[in-house]
Amino acid sequence: MRILLVEDELALSAQLVSTLEDEGYVVDAVTNGSDALHLGCEESFDAAILDLGLPQLDGLSVLKGWRKVGKTMPVIILTARDSWSEKVTGIDAGADDYLGKPFHMQELLARLRSVIRRATGQIDPVLSCGAVALDTLAGKVTVNNLPITLTSHEFKLLSWLMHHPGEVASRTTLSEHIYSYNDDPDSNTIEVFIARLRKKLPEGMIETVRGLGYRLQPPPTR
Ligand code: CA
Repeated sequence: MRILLVEDELALSAQLVSTLEDEGYVVDAVTNGSDALHLGCEESFDAAILDLGLPQLDGLSVLKGWRKVGKTMPVIILTARDSWSEKVTGIDAGADDYLGKPFHMQELLARLRSVIRRATGQIDPVLSCGAVALDTLAGKVTVNNLPITLTSHEFKLLSWLMHHPGEVASRTTLSEHIYSYNDDPDSNTIEVFIARLRKKLPEGMIETVRGLGYRLQPPPTR
């Protein structure tokens, strides 16, 4: 899952990037409002973390700009502690959740998992599809209750597919959600990762939809 992080305090931003990457997220970090508006409008994200006090363009205007062009990704705003009016204005402008500064990383991570779950229609933090289960808290995957080992890219790919079961995803969509803006992916890498994932998952789990992409679904029972 790919996250847009907008935070102008550099130390906090660096800490957030490192924590989020450790949790298996792909992160694009920007430090001013105009870059945030541009990137959020042009690229595909699974969620955004948005500070409100930003140089060049304030966070509320950024959020309204994203919503105006139809970007519906869940947004968590970072507000000054106890500023209830900022929270109200932010939620009215289209934010999905808020967190007062300073905050605990674990709370941010929990809220992030929660807004992503809600946005993708998932209820349980353990996503399951047939015999495969992905625990979004522990970052672990099991097949028939037995743990399997995935590389970081395989995990990112499977995580996106598990959040969108039954949905056909093109190679472009998948690469948009497992690479950040600064990565330079080869379009063939998705095929390679899919092939590797297929060897680790039950047969028939990742279906190729000719000309369109891939779809994750439980293999048909006979
Ligand atoms: Ca700020």
